[in-house]
Amino acid sequence: MAIFKNEGALTPDYVPDKLPFRDDQLKLLQTYFDSFIRMPGSIYVKAVMVGRSGSGKTVTSKKFGSYVRVASKGRVEFVHVSCALHRTSFSVLKTIGLALGLPVPRRGFSSEELLELILDDVTTKDKYAIIALDDVFYLLNYSGPDAIDALVRLGEEYSGKGYRFSLLLISQSESFMDQLNRGVKSSLGGAVIEFPPYTKDQIFEILLNRAREALKDSAYTEEILEMISDVAGVDPEDQAKSAMRGDARYALDILWRASKLAELNASPRIMPSHVREAVMQTLHGVREDELIGLSLHEKLLLLAIVNRLMRSSDTPYISIGDAEDEYEMICEQYGQEPRKHTQLWDYVKDMASRGILETRLSGKGMRGRTTFISIPTEPLETMKQAVESMVKRDLG
Ligand code: ADP
Ligand code: MG
Repeated sequence: MAIFKNEGALTPDYVPDKLPFRDDQLKLLQTYFDSFIRMPGSIYVKAVMVGRSGSGKTVTSKKFGSYVRVASKGRVEFVHVSCALHRTSFSVLKTIGLALGLPVPRRGFSSEELLELILDDVTTKDKYAIIALDDVFYLLNYSGPDAIDALVRLGEEYSGKGYRFSLLLISQSESFMDQLNRGVKSSLGGAVIEFPPYTKDQIFEILLNRAREALKDSAYTEEILEMISDVAGVDPEDQAKSAMRGDARYALDILWRASKLAELNASPRIMPSHVREAVMQTLHGVREDELIGLSLHEKLLLLAIVNRLMRSSDTPYISIGDAEDEYEMICEQYGQEPRKHTQLWDYVKDMASRGILETRLSGKGMRGRTTFISIPTEPLETMKQAVESMVKRDLG
């Protein structure tokens, strides 16, 4: 009856043994960082990884991390920092310090001072590390280019036996580089590794590998996996229609949900209806951990927008005024003091820049200039449930 053999192999953080279709990217990483790994301190390497959500950037960087430790015989450490969770240079530096086993002061230090402290400590303890700043646009949007500057400086510092750090920046597109201070941008130079979105065939292969690890043989057929690949993979014939696709995370999420539904319904295997239902329940462009990273009031505003959109089922847009009215009611419901209009404005812009919302100015036949908001890509019911439970968690 059981569907799962090892459910863990379908969780987002799982790092599989093999990463099909990412050999080239892994090779490039190894080549760029080769000198730092072989002769730590001799050089300061900076490289950038770019690709859409679900194109395998995070998992490839972690694979590279294991390689670094082995190839350097433990001399070089690899520190992976999620900037979705750590959005200030202080928080990033603290994470680096903790990962390197350095004593990190809890409070009362500026990030400048923390930086000095870390540099002193790595020199005394003779440590080297490659720092991966994952989803670095969060840090940039939240703290500005100076935060990146500070971290780039961490690597530039030449102390004792040379350069202590090298840097790997990971983002969804190259456009974040335009926001960096000029010197930093040019110093990143040409070391950009691209992660193209996966085609349907590639998604199928990834799903098949993962299903073999995670599910009982009798629990799925290749047709079921093909069905999911069709939803999640890029169609090489029709790139435009695939603007949101090529996302392995989305595909794996659907597979996991469909497996859960089969289990829940006491079905001996995953049926097409389970896949259809799973597709309805799965957030697409938006990731759950991105939502978790929003501030409480951003979540309340998002919840308000979702609620209002669900009620106005005949139009895809609501005005920012409607969103505000709804937000005030929700604040009352949760016993929260509402934020001011200008603040809400910033929230809308922030969520739009991360692709959670779409905005546009009032269209034909409408008077005045009002901003309209929509959520075109996500099932609203799913979004509502996800945000609601996060708000409850935030409020303890
Ligand atoms: P990104 O960081 O680019 O958004 P991730 O690296 O988090 O994407 O990948 C999303 C999910 O897909 C993860 O569960 C990851 O393990 C899986 N995945 C991505 N690429 C591959 C691959 N080539 N082979 C196997 N699994 C993959
Ligand atoms: Mg990632």
